Amino acid sequence: MAEVGGKQLMRVNDLPRHYDPKQTEDKWYQFWLDRRFFHADVGSSKETFSVVIPPPNVTDVLHLGHALNNTLQDILIRWKRMQGYEAEWLPGTDHAGIATQVILEKNLARQGTSKERLGREKFLELAWDWKKKNGDAILNQLKKIGCSCDWDRTRFTLDEGLSEAVLEVFVHLYSKGLIYRGKRIINWCPRCQTSLSDDETEREEKDGSLWYVKYKLKGSDDYIMVATTRPETMLGDTAVAVSPKDKRFEKLVGKSAILPILDRELKIIADDFVDPEFGTGMVKVTPAHDPNDFEIGQRHNLEQINVMKPNGTMNENAGKFSGMDRYACREALVAELKKKKLLEKVESYQVPVAQCYRCDTEIEPYLSEQWFVKMKPLAKPAIEAVKTGKLKFYPERWTKTYMYWMENIRDWCISRQLWWGHRIPVWYCQDCSETIVAKTGPSECTRCKSKKLKQDEGVLDTWFSSWLWPFSTFGWPDKTPELRRFYPTKALFTASEIIFLWVARMVMAGYEFMGREPFSDVYIHGTVRDEYGIKMSKSLGNGIDPLEIIDQYGADALRTTMMLVTPEGQDTLIARRTFQVGQHFANKLWNVSKFVLANLSKTFAPEAELQSGQAEGRLEDSWILSRLNRTIGEVTDLMGDYRFNSAVKSLYDFIWHDFCDWYVEMIKERLNLPEGEREREAAENVAHFVLNNILRLLHPFAPFVTEEIWHHLYDSGADGSSVSAARWPVCDKKMINESLENTLDRVQDAVTSIRNIRSEMNVPPAKKAEVLIRVDNADMQRILEENQAHVKNLGKLANLTIGRQISKPDHAASAVIRDAEIFVPLEGLIDLEQERKRLQKEIARVTQLLERGNKKLSNEDFLKRAPREIIEKEKTKKEEYRKILEKLNQNLEEIVGW
Ligand SMILES: [Zn+2]
Ligand SMILES: [Zn+2]
Repeated sequence: MAEVGGKQLMRVNDLPRHYDPKQTEDKWYQFWLDRRFFHADVGSSKETFSVVIPPPNVTDVLHLGHALNNTLQDILIRWKRMQGYEAEWLPGTDHAGIATQVILEKNLARQGTSKERLGREKFLELAWDWKKKNGDAILNQLKKIGCSCDWDRTRFTLDEGLSEAVLEVFVHLYSKGLIYRGKRIINWCPRCQTSLSDDETEREEKDGSLWYVKYKLKGSDDYIMVATTRPETMLGDTAVAVSPKDKRFEKLVGKSAILPILDRELKIIADDFVDPEFGTGMVKVTPAHDPNDFEIGQRHNLEQINVMKPNGTMNENAGKFSGMDRYACREALVAELKKKKLLEKVESYQVPVAQCYRCDTEIEPYLSEQWFVKMKPLAKPAIEAVKTGKLKFYPERWTKTYMYWMENIRDWCISRQLWWGHRIPVWYCQDCSETIVAKTGPSECTRCKSKKLKQDEGVLDTWFSSWLWPFSTFGWPDKTPELRRFYPTKALFTASEIIFLWVARMVMAGYEFMGREPFSDVYIHGTVRDEYGIKMSKSLGNGIDPLEIIDQYGADALRTTMMLVTPEGQDTLIARRTFQVGQHFANKLWNVSKFVLANLSKTFAPEAELQSGQAEGRLEDSWILSRLNRTIGEVTDLMGDYRFNSAVKSLYDFIWHDFCDWYVEMIKERLNLPEGEREREAAENVAHFVLNNILRLLHPFAPFVTEEIWHHLYDSGADGSSVSAARWPVCDKKMINESLENTLDRVQDAVTSIRNIRSEMNVPPAKKAEVLIRVDNADMQRILEENQAHVKNLGKLANLTIGRQISKPDHAASAVIRDAEIFVPLEGLIDLEQERKRLQKEIARVTQLLERGNKKLSNEDFLKRAPREIIEKEKTKKEEYRKILEKLNQNLEEIVGW
C-alpha cells in the first residue's frame, strides 16, 4: 500500500496547479472516438433513446445559440448513455437554400460577377464547395464543444438519401392531391427574386403615408376618392370597391370610374371585405398585387394586371413608368397626380410591412404561379397529437403557440425560384403542355409522346427537406433497421422561432409518412443575449464566438456557464467574462480532486460501491452521504423534466459548498492520522466514494475535466475505465437523513457567523478567538456541544463556551443565529484603537462616495441624458454603499462599547 500511495503522491505533485483544458480536451475527444462510445448499435438489447440534431445551416460557423442548443442535447444524450440506454444522437447539416444562395450571390457580386454569368452548373459547384468547407467547420466545432454525436450517421439535407426522400414525398403528396400548382399572391423578394412562405417574412409596422387620390366618375365631372398606402400599384387597378352596407355609396355601385393617367375604366363593386371606416370607405382593387384584392378579384371575376417585373421594376403595363424601380415610380406617380390636381391629401400612417427574412428587402405581394401543399388535412393528426399528450412542449406555454398556428394553418408555398436546393420533380411538355410529376426525368410525354420536355426551373423550399429529417436521416423511404430502431426519436431541442417553420411541419410529416409522431418531447430554449439583454447578432457586433470561449476558458466552462446562467425556458444573458464562472467551477473540482488524491493511501476500483463498515458513522460522513444521495435524486428528477439549470445548480452547490467547503475541511484532521487508522481509512473511503459520484454526476455537463480526473484517480490507460461509460448513480433513499442534515446545518450556521465576524473585524487568520455562545434551548446546546470540535476547528477558536446563562462581554462583536447568539470578545484579538481608527477612516470614505452618488442621482441633467442601465448601476451602487456604511457603524459601536 505504501508503495502505491507513494506513487500516487508523486503523480499528484506532477499535476498542474490549475486545470488546463488545452492539455485534455482534444486528447479525450479522440479517446472517445477511438472507443466508439458515441456510436449506437442498431442490434443491441438495450432500451433505445434517440435524438436528431436540428441541422445547423451551412451558411456560417456556429454561434453561441448553437452552442447552447447542442450543449443541451449533449447533456441529455450522455446522461441517457450512462443510464444504460442505447443512445443515438444523429448529427448533420442543412443546405439552407435561400440563406446560402444569398451569401454566395453577395460574394459573386463583390468579385464583379453574378450567378447568371456563371450559369446554373458552375454556380452549384460553388455552392457544394461552400458546403464542404462550412459543413466540415461546423462539425468540427461541435466536436470542440464536446458533442457526443454518432458521426457514422452524419447526414446532409441534399445528400443522396435525403434527396430520394424528398422526391418520394413530393410524388406521394401530388398523387394524393395534396400538392397543387396555382396562381396566387405570394410573398416575393425582389432582391432574392424568389417566393417566400409567410413564415419566412418578418412583419412590422413602419412610418408610411396614406395617399388620397381622386378617380373621375365616368361620364361626369364628379370624383370619387380612394386611399392607398402603395400608390404605384394603382396602375394595376381593375375595380373600385365599397362595402355593401355603406349607404353613402349605394348609388355608385355598378357605375364606373376612370383610373387616372392610364384612363382605364374601373367597375365600382360592392364587397364585404371593404371596411367602411378605412380611408374614404372606397378602396381601389388591384388583384395582381394584394392578397385581399386577389380574393375580391376571384369573387367578382376581375382582370389581374401585373405591373411589376420580378426584380421590382415596373413592367410595360405601367405605361410611361415602365422600367422605373417601384419606389421611383411611387415618387413620379405622386408628383404627376399632384400636378394634375388629383391628389387630395396625404396623411402619415403606420403601414404594416413584410421583409425578407434573409436580406431584409421589402416584400412585394406578387401574383405568380407556384407549387403549394394543402396543409389542413396534414394538420389534423398533428393537432390530435398535442391534445392527446403524445407530443409535449417544455415549457408548456409553447403549446398555445403551436395550436394557434395549426388551427389557422394556410397552404404552404413550396416552390422557390432558386438554384441551390432540391429541383422540383415536375416536367412540362412543350407540345401539349402536359404536366408530369415523377421521381426521375421521363423520356417522353405521357400524353402526346413528345420528347420536348422541360423540367420546372425552381427548387423546393429548404424546409421541404428538413421537415422529413427525423426519418429521412434513418434511411426512409427504405425500411432500414436504423429506422425501425431509432424512430420515433424522444426529444427535440430547438428555438421558438422555428416552431412553425420546422417543428410543426415535422410533426405533420411524421404522421403522414411514418404514421406516428417524430418525437414526444419538444424542448424550446431561449435566445442568447448580451449582458444588457440585446440579442447577439453579427451586425451589432455583440456576438461571442464559442471557439474563442473554448480557447480562453475551456469547453467545460462554456457548457457549465451556459447551463448555470440560463433559467429554464428563459433567455440566456451572458458576457464574455461570465464564462469565468464555469472556469472557476472546473478549477474548484480540480483542486479538491487533487487534495483527495494526495490523501488516498490505497487504490480504489472505479465501480466499487461503499460497503457498510467502510464509513465510521461519524456525523460528517453520514451527513455527506445523505447530501450526496439527496443530490443524486434531485438531479436525476430534474434532468428527467429537462430542468438542466436547476440540476446543474444543485450539483454546483453540492460540490462547492457541501463537499469542498465543509466535508473536506471537516476530515482534514482525520487525514493526518497515520495510514491504516480506522478513522482515517473511513474518511478516505467516503471522500473517494463521493468524489467518484461527483465525477459521474457532473460528466454530462463537464465531460472533459471529469474524464481527466477519472484517469488520474484510477490510473486507467487507453484500455482502462472511462467516466463516459460509467453508470449513472442511483439514489439510495435509506442514506438520506433529514435530522442529521438539520444538525449539521446548525453547526454550519455557527461557524459561518464566527467566520463572518472574523473577516469583518479584520482578525488576522492565525489568531485564535475565544467564543461564547448563548443557546436558547437544550436541543441547540446538545448539537453544539456534540460538535464542539468542528466548531473550534473550522472557526479557528482557542476556546468555546456554550451555555444558557451567558451575557455579552465588553468590546465583543456579536451575531444572532437560529436558537443562539454568538459573542466574539475583541480585546486581545485585534488592536482596538487601530481598528477604531481604520473604521472611522473607512466610514468617512464611504460617506463621501455615498454623497457623490446622491448628488449624481439628484442631478436632472444626468437623469435625462444618461442611458438607463447607467442610472440603474448608480442606484445599485448607492444602495450598496448605504449597506456598507450601516455595517461599519455597527462594528464601530461594538468596539467603542457602551
Ligand atoms: Zn431577399
Ligand atoms: Zn405532351
